[in-house]
Amino acid sequence: MSTHVIEIENLSRRFGKKQALANVCLSVPEGAVFGLVGENGAGKTTLLKHILGFLKPQSGTVRVFGLDPVADPPGVLSRIGHLSETRDLPPWMTIRELFEFTRAFYPKWDPVYAEELRMMFELTMTQKVSTLSRGQLARAGLLLALAHRPPLLVLDEPSSGLDPLVRKDILDAIIRTVVDEGRTVLFSSHLLDEVQRVSDQVAILDQGQLLLTSPLDEVLVSHFRLTVSFAEP
Ligand code: ATP
Repeated sequence: MSTHVIEIENLSRRFGKKQALANVCLSVPEGAVFGLVGENGAGKTTLLKHILGFLKPQSGTVRVFGLDPVADPPGVLSRIGHLSETRDLPPWMTIRELFEFTRAFYPKWDPVYAEELRMMFELTMTQKVSTLSRGQLARAGLLLALAHRPPLLVLDEPSSGLDPLVRKDILDAIIRTVVDEGRTVLFSSHLLDEVQRVSDQVAILDQGQLLLTSPLDEVLVSHFRLTVSFAEP
């Protein structure tokens, strides 16, 4: 029987009149690369914030490793590597300072692994966050998310705003760590084709509703016109 790292039942969320999530049910099996696809405003970030415990469910339940992320933030967050959509790294810090700062939060931070990742991502210790390109920023954020070897990665649009080659690099780096270490990954994207390429399972969010969970059926996809609506301009 497969274990589910994330289990969400009937999760709903309103912001004023806006129904951001409507009765979302989702299960992410251990060891899976799970892609969450949706257009701008579909509710992807809102869903991920509930998994991280940054938002409290207005109705429904969220369990991560069997725990309630709002009731037990250390129990959940210590096991998650998170990359936010906005990256949110202090611009005045160098990569070395980011290492020291992040390491202080995570007892399981692995300096040897962090150094391996730093070399793989071609970042230098003296580089300041404010001088990083978007691709380097994504790599730095990913490095910080990975270096305490969390069993679960929650990545909000890890490839957003990157050119196609860098995008492929980033996603391949994520997948490599999963294959190597049996992690579970939940990541969001606008791009159905890239999600399909790297994911074991896919869920599609549309205006807060979960339309479809894979195995992805091409007939359904074309019915919902998703390949067209998710293509980047
Ligand atoms: P994007 O790809 O543009 O980041 P998304 O799929 O991540 O979009 P969300 O950020 O989850 O979408 O937003 C879903 C809806 O909820 C949007 O209509 C958004 O404007 C609204 N929303 C999200 N957070 C808030 C908030 N704090 N206050 C008010 N409305 C919000």
